Amino acid sequence: MNQTKKVLLVFLPSESGVDGARSLYDEPETGSIRQRFNHSVRTLIKQSQFAIPPLALMILGSIEVPGVEQQLCDMRFEEFPYRNDWDLVGISVQTGMARKAFELADKLRRQGIPVALGGAHVSLFPDSCRSHADLLVHGEADDMWKTVLEDLRAGSLKTDYRADGFPDLSLPRPVSKHMLQRNRYFTTNLIQTGRGCPYNCDFCNVHVLNGRSLRRRAISDIVAEVGRFLQDDRRIFFFVDDSVNADPSYAEELFRRLIPYRISWFGQATTTLGQQPRLLEAFAKSGCRALLVGIESVEPASRNAHRKNQNKAAELAAAIRNIRNAGISLYGSFIYGLDGDTLDTPAAILDFVSQTKLDVPGINILRPTPGTGVFDRLREEGRLLFDPDDPTAFRYTFGQEMLYRPKRIPLDAFVESYSTLTRQLFSPAQSIRRGIGAPSAKTAVLFFNLFYTHLYGLSRNDLKKQIASRFG
Ligand code: SF4
Repeated sequence: MNQTKKVLLVFLPSESGVDGARSLYDEPETGSIRQRFNHSVRTLIKQSQFAIPPLALMILGSIEVPGVEQQLCDMRFEEFPYRNDWDLVGISVQTGMARKAFELADKLRRQGIPVALGGAHVSLFPDSCRSHADLLVHGEADDMWKTVLEDLRAGSLKTDYRADGFPDLSLPRPVSKHMLQRNRYFTTNLIQTGRGCPYNCDFCNVHVLNGRSLRRRAISDIVAEVGRFLQDDRRIFFFVDDSVNADPSYAEELFRRLIPYRISWFGQATTTLGQQPRLLEAFAKSGCRALLVGIESVEPASRNAHRKNQNKAAELAAAIRNIRNAGISLYGSFIYGLDGDTLDTPAAILDFVSQTKLDVPGINILRPTPGTGVFDRLREEGRLLFDPDDPTAFRYTFGQEMLYRPKRIPLDAFVESYSTLTRQLFSPAQSIRRGIGAPSAKTAVLFFNLFYTHLYGLSRNDLKKQIASRFG
């Protein structure tokens, strides 16, 4: 009789940032009060609001093939379960964490456990992954993973699985949560309504990985999923799409149909929502409590330089006010260090934040992610600070490492101005003020701001150390 094949899907934590707010410069464990405090804050950040399950692996784990059993290992919370009865271990590889993924894959393969690698890094840089895996899954794996599992059962695994196009998301693909340990996460109610983005921002790889046309799931499938998810977890829903309002008429129909479910939800949207009153009303009535909006830059020169033109800077402030007036809190995400930015930009950001009363003003340093247009351009211009031929050198952190030289600002002056800006924006007093003033989700706004006060402190310290050690 054939034995059930055991498959483990693995999600890795990033080196720092929200998965584990720690310094990049490891200090020996002394058990000091400061270390114990930092450890407690790290655990709190992870558990109380940031940790959400890895949706891509939930989707793969929902694929059922008779004779194959799948489990999830979320290494943000648990050690890898070293046993020798795994028939296949699938690791999701993001460029920022690729080195860790390769280390684990190599170790498993030395023990004779077959490894499948997939995820964004494999799709963009398959050659750098090949020597670490028995098989590679290129691109969106929704359809291919079923073939992998069938081949595993039949004993006929191949070295590469590659689809001709993107999966058809309009087909029903119910997502199951059976692999998750509910209490680890802020919520398990993650919903994706579609993939792809018609825009072309050069610092982003969504359009490279998921295509330029929007592929949407059937509204009835999503409504059914919300109803099903509610049965075992009544916490907040998170719509994970990069722009949940990318197709306004689709979004309006979806959220109107969700009104009777009386859920609360967070999501990500473009600020054009503030100019779409009917859609905004549907968002508010369906329980939208907070949205992340990508403002990126208030400098017209930077918006043009990076092709972020879909919502004009002049309209942003009014749109933000409209959204907040509808009772939705806003996390506004800025990028500092874009090509049009100067040392005057922080003052413009501060001004904008105070005018619009953004509830969480997230300041990101430009990240030239390998595989994006901006990475290629900075490489040509000789502005990258790590070896451009080694994409794994560009690790993900919470703004703790400069990866490039800004165009118009010397590196040390940039770090100093970023440090001043984040210090001015984040403090316990600012956090309390923003929490009280938020139109909704006041506790979440308060905690986000408090955690960011801690995380930006970490970021400033590590940047200072990097500049001192590499360029001092
Ligand atoms: S930043 Fe947002 S709008 Fe721009 S390409 Fe990426 S997903 Fe699309």
